[in-house]
Amino acid sequence: MKKVMQEIMMLVDPELIKIYKAASKKWGDHSQVMMCVEECAELQKELLHMLRHSKNKSMDSLIDELADVQIMIEQMRVVFKITPLEFLTKRADKLRRLKQRLEP
Ligand SMILES: [Mg+2]
Repeated sequence: MKKVMQEIMMLVDPELIKIYKAASKKWGDHSQVMMCVEECAELQKELLHMLRHSKNKSMDSLIDELADVQIMIEQMRVVFKITPLEFLTKRADKLRRLKQRLEP
């Protein structure tokens, strides 16, 4: 239960919500959606790069892109007015299905 509460608190953190709303106000929702697409593409590129050059590569770039995408996902939840409950319910359903598929 503590873990669920931590997840909910992260999704409703007033400081983060304030930042996401300010970004939409400054650049517009359309621009932020485009930015999300761009960040997803950067992560895709980084993941492919990791597969090809993993031995010589530091993790910094991957961590950087993962953080960018996580921020954009949170921002898209705010842009499209998806409530924390809706998001966490869907996420829990998907994790439950994944867990079932892993069971023997
Ligand atoms: Mg990026």
